[in-house]
Amino acid sequence: MNIMESREDVRGQVLDFVFDGKFERYHADLAKLLEDPIFNYQAGLNQSQAGHLTYERSRFVHARIESPLEVLSQPYRLFALAEWPALMDVAAFSVLMVHYNLTLGSFFDHGLDRPGLAPHIKNLNELQHFGPFMATELGYGNNVAALRTTAEYDPATRTFRINTPDVLAQKYMSYSGFSDIQKTAVVMARLKYAGKDHGVYPFAVPLCNEDGMRPGIIASPCPEKPVQGLDNGLTWFDNVQIPAGNALLGQGEYVGEDGQLHLKSNNSRTRFLSSMSRIVPGRLCVASAGLGSARASVYLALKYAGRRLTNFPAQGDAPIIAYRSHHGPLFRALANGVGMTALLNRVKREYVTDTSHVPTKLSALISVVKCAATWEATSIINTCRERCGAQGIFSVNRIADYVSLLQGLVTAEGDNAVLMSTAISQLLGDSSPEAPAKLKAVGHISAGDVPVLLDLIQEHKKVALRNKLRQDEDADFTSLWNSAIEDAIDLGTSMAKSLGSREMVEACTRVRDAQTRQGLEALIKLFGLVEIERSAVFCIANGLLQAADLNAIQRQILECYDLLLTSYEGIIDGFGISEELLRAPLAASNYAVSFTRACGQPEYLYN
Ligand SMILES: Cc1cc2nc3c(=O)[nH]c(=O)nc-3n(C[C@H](O)[C@H](O)[C@H](O)COP(=O)(O)OP(=O)(O)OC[C@H]3O[C@@H](n4cnc5c(N)ncnc54)[C@H](O)[C@@H]3O)c2cc1C
Repeated sequence: MNIMESREDVRGQVLDFVFDGKFERYHADLAKLLEDPIFNYQAGLNQSQAGHLTYERSRFVHARIESPLEVLSQPYRLFALAEWPALMDVAAFSVLMVHYNLTLGSFFDHGLDRPGLAPHIKNLNELQHFGPFMATELGYGNNVAALRTTAEYDPATRTFRINTPDVLAQKYMSYSGFSDIQKTAVVMARLKYAGKDHGVYPFAVPLCNEDGMRPGIIASPCPEKPVQGLDNGLTWFDNVQIPAGNALLGQGEYVGEDGQLHLKSNNSRTRFLSSMSRIVPGRLCVASAGLGSARASVYLALKYAGRRLTNFPAQGDAPIIAYRSHHGPLFRALANGVGMTALLNRVKREYVTDTSHVPTKLSALISVVKCAATWEATSIINTCRERCGAQGIFSVNRIADYVSLLQGLVTAEGDNAVLMSTAISQLLGDSSPEAPAKLKAVGHISAGDVPVLLDLIQEHKKVALRNKLRQDEDADFTSLWNSAIEDAIDLGTSMAKSLGSREMVEACTRVRDAQTRQGLEALIKLFGLVEIERSAVFCIANGLLQAADLNAIQRQILECYDLLLTSYEGIIDGFGISEELLRAPLAASNYAVSFTRACGQPEYLYN
């Protein structure tokens, strides 16, 4: 093997580590698509132009890959689609994932065999229409299960009438602001029949055709927001009539020959969760997009850090990465980005084993992953933004746009604070009643020790939380929940870190190149040490660590930094991205010329 071949081979091994061996099959062509000029950064667009460009880019992607229904039948492909276009246009994540996963996915889960829905499925599959997904209402966000839009059945006309009862029940944030793009929405509404509320069902509702918004639908764009020029809107339905066949009814539910509706009596919570079935893969899509942009940020910031020179006292110029205050935070970001990616890989594998039935515990774990991944990605991206100085604030350099993406991701498809605490309450009963073992000495840990240590820490946190809840057994619900919610959120992060570290260690055993493996082991150690450091107050307060152990942890963190200084480039080379793909001036080999060109300075100045 010559040097080039061996470099490619090593890159392939890291790609397998990061993408769980699935890069070529599911990701490579999507990454390649982004090199098309349609994804070039475009300056000077107003919000509406930026939003319309996002729809154009989404059409471009749709036309070049398999059909949306085929994408839905391969969840790994769906997750890859969530990850890549967002790197070049953060709003494309929202348009594509709402269309593919939430909207067409609702038909995929509940309506493929219903003849009345076929024309809508065709329109959406061929992207003749975009598909907004309308669940949230102005007064019903995290409490969306209590939404109040109604769909009242009229047996005489065999139609449903969709109505917005009041201002708080207007559909909110879904994409209804542009009426010049044809759209068919999935609208979540309370099915009313014979005077009774039968719970929340999805309904196919054509919103706009070539003549604009349909009569009875009153929609306006929400106020402007930074970066994402999309048409999030407010929508009011005034007696909008749709055929009975547009209801995405449950299994065994139908409209009879006589026009009567045959429904099963269901627990309202079960009915709601079934109607919102796409939220579960949606959370894996959200985590994929968040971590994809986190890894891209680390890639950009480290490339820049290796090329941007600054002065070192009495030594002349050197790259800024040589400063501890610079490489320390970036290597922590690198470790956390890769660790959370490993966690996500593991949970994706569990999800794809049987997508038709997701057990409650797995669903709760997916929620934990969504929250931990997007919170971690937020922190990583903000760190990278700051480490790039002023270069970090320009959209053309990507990272600033990822900040905005993550602000949406921590809120959408389940606000992190609410989702994490609820998920932990479902997983808490899952721990062994026996007291976990004490931590072994942390004076000198190996990569293989990391999952053991992190698992013990999260087990101790579980026990502490359960004990706290038991002590307060007589408290009312609000006091009890409030006493536990912050600990529950912290526990969720520790669970995520523990599982992520285990997956990293397992994936590392498949890396053949000894030098690369050594670099990855340093990364795993750093990931673990940073989590122990984050949990230090808990560990000391509960007798798991001595204050003096913190010195040993700090010393080992510094050792990891030193090892990573010689190996980080090989790791980020395996992220599947390149300078040509991201086209961010700050990461170009000659960033000064690239940035000067991006600013429009005359060419004679730099050529
Ligand atoms: C970019 C973006 C795109 C979106 N796209 C869509 C879309 O296409 N379709 C759609 O239907 N919706 C969409 N949404 C809406 C999204 O689902 C909601 O924003 C989300 O459910 C949160 O609801 P809310 O904004 O009303 O927040 P609220 O429920 O008002 O929450 C506000 C704050 O209160 C806290 N809080 C609320 N309830 C609790 C609780 N029980 N316990 C503790 N804390 C609580 C939250 O943590 C949060 O900090 C989108 C949102 C964003 C940001």
